Amino acid sequence: MKLDVNVLRYLSKDDFRVLTAVEMGMRNHEIVPSELVERIACLKHGGTYKVLKNLLKYKLLHHDASKYDGFRLTYLGYDFLAIKTLVNRGIFTGVGRQIGVGKESDIFEVAQEDGTILAMKLHRLGRTSFRAVKSKRDYLRHRSSFSWLYLSRLAALKEFAFMKALEEHDFPVPKAIDCNRHCVIMSLVQGYPMVQVKQLQNPETIFEKIIGIVVRLAEHGLIHCDFNEFNIMIDDEEKITMIDFPQMVSVSHRNAQMYFDRDIECIFKFFRKRFNMIFHEDKGESDETEVDENSRPSFYDITKDANALDRDLEASGFTRKEQNDLDKFIEGGVEKSEGSDEDDESDDEEQTCDSHEEENVDELKSLQLQEKKSSDGVEAEVKLDDTEKGE
Ligand code: ADP
Ligand code: MG
Repeated sequence: MKLDVNVLRYLSKDDFRVLTAVEMGMRNHEIVPSELVERIACLKHGGTYKVLKNLLKYKLLHHDASKYDGFRLTYLGYDFLAIKTLVNRGIFTGVGRQIGVGKESDIFEVAQEDGTILAMKLHRLGRTSFRAVKSKRDYLRHRSSFSWLYLSRLAALKEFAFMKALEEHDFPVPKAIDCNRHCVIMSLVQGYPMVQVKQLQNPETIFEKIIGIVVRLAEHGLIHCDFNEFNIMIDDEEKITMIDFPQMVSVSHRNAQMYFDRDIECIFKFFRKRFNMIFHEDKGESDETEVDENSRPSFYDITKDANALDRDLEASGFTRKEQNDLDKFIEGGVEKSEGSDEDDESDDEEQTCDSHEEENVDELKSLQLQEKKSSDGVEAEVKLDDTEKGE
């Protein structure tokens, strides 16, 4: 999907107000009835219909008239709400080029006032595992589009919390800057994913460093669960940075050993194939680099502190409840089969959405506040790239 930030320049406060109203309405409606949008947005001079038409034109909303006349947010609409909020907070001033398309995310460069470039990750849960999400829709009582937004928001929150906690424990991760909705802002890693690297000055050293990170993570109670050449960045000085944390699990997870072994195996496999490294366990020719047979660490031999990072994670605002919600989807922890939607989840959803609503209410309040302060449009708040600054 294309993120055309130019559109931001043409959106007024009323546009954002109505967009936020649809977001709020999605708490209880997969498709938000037009009248409800109008009631929540409560535009001074009416005119919600015209605004809705504008938002539709820019594909920030989707119109659905199959059951009744209503709207839902598109991912683009959700992107814009997050970007607008972060710009208002002064986190960045403009969105630049796309630098990554992950399995379930889009990554863009964003620029700060002083020219510093950061990375913006927009989570898109359900893009590849749509079927998985769909099959578990019962959990959110058939509100599929809401669940996409909700899950993507949880993924972002988790990523942000873990990045912060890991950084505090000196793991090589990007610096977590801020987070809103499904969007995480972090420092831009100079370098490339390992998968693009054809040669290393000293593969053994890098290999040991990487295995060392997996072991130290386990000592701190965590397993990455997607630790491979796509999620390890390396720069020209061969400095390693690990990225991509929404799927991390605790060492007390029931499949912890399997996940740990899988992460280790990915690294062995990659170094074997890409850099022709030979391990003792391989019964290969021995004219190439050989690595100590002890290199493959055993999960059981590691002294693990399952609670080491807990405090830091909680401080970042990622609650256990949210962790559980997300886990249910990401690793299929709860396989809710068809017909089982009557059990324990029925009043769960209310809590699930509460914090989201608070966020929305804050958003509306802040919109009202800004409205009082100034009658300018939002155009001035979003700078685009250099070529357009002078316009
Ligand atoms: P996904 O969860 O979708 O796999 P990732 O977090 O792995 O997303 O990011 C996808 C790609 O985007 C990475 O492989 C990398 O090339 C790029 N990328 C992600 N984060 C950063 C960052 N902080 N700095 C530079 N590039 C990044
Ligand atoms: Mg990735």
